[in-house]
Amino acid sequence: MAELTQPGLLGLDFKELSRIAQKHRQPEYRARQLFEAIYPQRLANLDSISTLPRQFRAALKEEGLEVGQPRIEKRFESADGTIRYLIAMSDGETVETVWMPEGDGGEMGDGSDAGGTDWDRATICVSSQVGCAVNCQFCLTAQLGIKRNLTAGEIVGQVVAVLNDRDVDMERQRLNIVFMGMGEPFLNYENFMKAVRLLVEGVGFPESRMTVSTSGIVPRIVDFGAEPIRPKLAISLNASNDEIRNQIMPLNRKWNLGMLMQAAHDFPLRNRERITFEYVLLNGVNDAPEHAREVVELLRRIRCKVNLIALNPGPGIVFATPEEKRVHAFQQILTQSGIPAFIRRPRGRDIYAACGQLKRTVA
Ligand code: SAH
Ligand code: SF4
Repeated sequence: MAELTQPGLLGLDFKELSRIAQKHRQPEYRARQLFEAIYPQRLANLDSISTLPRQFRAALKEEGLEVGQPRIEKRFESADGTIRYLIAMSDGETVETVWMPEGDGGEMGDGSDAGGTDWDRATICVSSQVGCAVNCQFCLTAQLGIKRNLTAGEIVGQVVAVLNDRDVDMERQRLNIVFMGMGEPFLNYENFMKAVRLLVEGVGFPESRMTVSTSGIVPRIVDFGAEPIRPKLAISLNASNDEIRNQIMPLNRKWNLGMLMQAAHDFPLRNRERITFEYVLLNGVNDAPEHAREVVELLRRIRCKVNLIALNPGPGIVFATPEEKRVHAFQQILTQSGIPAFIRRPRGRDIYAACGQLKRTVA
């Protein structure tokens, strides 16, 4: 898989910017000014960084450097206010990033809608790779295969581009980030974690307002637990036993439910934190009451909650969406056993922005 070297300044941390300033014989505070301009101020090009001397800016440009924000190529707006962005990287590859005003239907917190009539609250769903290698059978992104990893700058860049497009004031508005777009974040672990640190230290998101979802890359779940700065953890469970999980998520043959549950059980949770388990309900496959009872057994000793998602259908997906009453019956078995379970409302389904529907539809 080809790796792209990031040509821009966006994606560099303070240390790396300091080295650039040093190389240009600039005082240390120039690096701080660069950092402030790129992250909290979200400026799109060197010309608009008026705090820097013209000469220094010119020297950077001469080296071929620019801020390097990714470009919004297209917007698809849904009837429910969701916006799906097609975002182009410097090599022309595109990913999708989704803006969900008024919360996210439960990814972040207690499963309730975030509330508020204005969009003073919103969630941005961010991609971590161009395509995905994991090949879950119910997911449209899987059909793309994996093209490449995104750099840290390209991951942060999606957020910055959308914040600018929505004219967000980070001081006034409450925003969440979910790393639940295209790709498997834990198969692009270093870049993903660097992006997280830049979002926290630079752009101004508290780590408690971010959630990353993994399909179950067990060794990286362990690493993630040891990170001093980290988002909350969500795990795509999607099946109640190895037989079904092997069929719908081939990675289960490598990291099976026993290994996954052990890692979840050992995961060092912070005060009041829970692991979220996502469970996509596929009609007649994993959505029977007996499956719900198996899920209860799996999760019994883990401080967690469950987000149930009725399949969002799509071309080439062989599964069907269960009826609502089946979804409710499944939910009831979990909640009656003391496991908080929420049904996630599909967002932007009409524009293919819902879970598992992100796929580059326009080149
Ligand atoms: N790759 C990561 C994060 C992105 S997917 C992961 O799989 O966890 C985000 C969520 O969408 C996952 O929980 C996944 O199980 C779910 N999903 C995938 N395809 C879906 C579909 N067609 N309908 C509903 N949810 C889907
Ligand atoms: Fe990749 Fe997640 Fe889709 Fe599975 S559900 S193919 S891990 S994006």
